[in-house]
Amino acid sequence: MIRKGAYGVFVFTVAVASGRCFAQQDFSGVEIKTTPVAGKVYMLEGRGGNIGVSVGSDGILIVDDQFAPLAEKIKAALAKLGSDKPKFILNTHWHGDHTGGNPQFGRDGTIIAQTNVRNRLIAKQELFGKPVEPLPKEGLPVVTFDESLSVHFNDEEIRVIHFPHGHTDGDSVIFFTKSNVVHMGDHMFAGMFPFVDLDHGGDVEGMAKNVAKVIGEVPPDVKIIPGHGPISTLDDLKTFHRMLVETTDIVKRRIAAGKTLEQIKAEGLPDPWKSWGNGFIKTDSWLETIFKSVSKSQ
Ligand SMILES: [Zn+2]
Repeated sequence: MIRKGAYGVFVFTVAVASGRCFAQQDFSGVEIKTTPVAGKVYMLEGRGGNIGVSVGSDGILIVDDQFAPLAEKIKAALAKLGSDKPKFILNTHWHGDHTGGNPQFGRDGTIIAQTNVRNRLIAKQELFGKPVEPLPKEGLPVVTFDESLSVHFNDEEIRVIHFPHGHTDGDSVIFFTKSNVVHMGDHMFAGMFPFVDLDHGGDVEGMAKNVAKVIGEVPPDVKIIPGHGPISTLDDLKTFHRMLVETTDIVKRRIAAGKTLEQIKAEGLPDPWKSWGNGFIKTDSWLETIFKSVSKSQ
């Protein structure tokens, strides 16, 4: 289910998420691909987190905006859908591969995000051991909320719901209620181990809980936009959830048996999860994330 290149995209994402090596990255070869998802919703793929788009008579609303150097290309793709000036920009979380375009899109549109997202974006952060500079004023969320918010746009209610302590502490999942589409943000990496940002309020078991909640709330024929990877089904999301639960259980059992992190890594993971480590987050790194996450919450 993973298209070729999906891993490459994430490798890149992580490399530039720091922002420091940002200028050295070459975005010139990146093309923006537009795919209809369902109802009023489209997905744009370039480099970084998948962009969700609501298209209709009220105009354009986008969910996440990838990297700043891609803003012009993203605008060109949006123009083909009706307008290159989205009225609303929803940020699923603060990471630079989802918010890099904010300073451009925030000039003409209103950026909306959970309170913790603005708090992260307004201050200097550190990610992967590298500094991440704050965004300028025009790139910051103007409307913030703590738990949930709705945007009534293009004849549907677009529900923005905070799911705490999953991928970070400020993630939202976006429900396009009539189009029957959900944008998971980085609460779903399709077919690959996710990055869980333990330093910014992320938690592996919290992520599993949050994903279970979404699974319980959506109809069986829902279309899912993951943060990274191709458009997915409810079954794909269930598999992602099962991966989170089963791999966490494995690590917990090994910890209970007195094994060290090195021993846990040496034992690896059984099928069917082996292939999930072919992306940027290798099996070793995933096991270490679980180890640190469950040790922290004990
Ligand atoms: Zn992220």
